Amino acid sequence: MTAILVLVEHDGGAADDLSRQAATLARGYADAAGGALEAVLIGPGGADAAAGLGELGVAKAHVAEHDGLGQFAPQAWGRTIAGLVSRLAPAAVVAPGSERAAEVMAHAAAITDLPFAANCVSATPGDPASVTRVRWGGSLLEEARLHGGTKLLTVAAHTVEATPAATAATTEVASFTPDLADADLVARVVERAQTGAGGGISLADAKVVVSGGRGVGSAEGFAAIEELAGLLNGAVGCSRAVTIAGWRPHTDQVGQTGTKIAPEIYIPCGISGATQHMAGCKGAKRILAINTDPDAPMIANADYAVIGDLHEVVPAISAEIRKVRGT
Ligand SMILES: Cc1cc2nc3c(=O)[nH]c(=O)nc-3n(C[C@H](O)[C@H](O)[C@H](O)COP(=O)(O)OP(=O)(O)OC[C@H]3O[C@@H](n4cnc5c(N)ncnc54)[C@H](O)[C@@H]3O)c2cc1C
Repeated sequence: MTAILVLVEHDGGAADDLSRQAATLARGYADAAGGALEAVLIGPGGADAAAGLGELGVAKAHVAEHDGLGQFAPQAWGRTIAGLVSRLAPAAVVAPGSERAAEVMAHAAAITDLPFAANCVSATPGDPASVTRVRWGGSLLEEARLHGGTKLLTVAAHTVEATPAATAATTEVASFTPDLADADLVARVVERAQTGAGGGISLADAKVVVSGGRGVGSAEGFAAIEELAGLLNGAVGCSRAVTIAGWRPHTDQVGQTGTKIAPEIYIPCGISGATQHMAGCKGAKRILAINTDPDAPMIANADYAVIGDLHEVVPAISAEIRKVRGT
């Protein structure tokens, strides 16, 4: 039976959210193709995460084990996937909508010389396969045809809801050692540093994100944004104007060239709502915008708006939360 492979990124022994979304799209593709959903997991903890993939309908998990894969190494991951493509000849390899996976799949496509469609929101098997994918920061959807023996694709972040399979599978776990050269490991992660406030809550996973834009005025001005994010158990984000000014690190940037977020509520403060910013926050369930300009595009995109100076509004919200909580 034809295999459809999904790349599963994992943390703490479980598939992450974007990988669950990718597995959901891949399962639909496998069902339509009459194939079996299989997974590839790379790096430490892969076997633990593989054990929990049955509810997503994964019939078999291929766990790559290699001394060089202790830390993320994009070309080595791409080579690992290329090796599986050559061994299993899957109908498709589906990867999550993370920056890491996009880089890995670009390497896999270059190594295998197979076509690669990034940021898909749906895919129908066939030869050619049909995909719908997000282009231009989310401002248009493109219908495309994908040729080639194995189709490579990534799923646009937060466009597919992760759902369990109607019938859970029993996942067979098989480890393998990919054939890697030293050159595949030249670019690799050598150190990790914890950044930002919010008690380690990642921007991509946060249920609440409070962001600041140029309207915040300075790096110091983010103290009030951090306070509100902390009270709401959320993460701090920002616009590119802010990262360019050097007020916050790039890891905090929301947008087309930053992180794609999908919180329950997004609170952009002093952010105009440029299309490149909206490309990163359109997955938010609700937007509460704080801005002095009632005509700012962000206000038009918001569910709720406070027209006012963020330097007054944000501390007032924090004070009210403290008052209600009695803290
Ligand atoms: C290729 C490319 C990629 C890009 N990628 C990204 C990206 O990933 N993310 C991103 O954010 N941008 C991105 N940009 C930049 C984007 O086009 C905008 O320039 C940027 O988002 C503007 O940031 P801003 O809203 O903070 O600033 P501005 O557009 O200057 O808006 C500031 C807002 O603050 C309001 N304001 C001012 N003072 C106050 C106050 N005291 N209280 C309340 N409101 C106040 C103003 O009314 C205004 O609406 C990209 C651009 C390009 C060309």
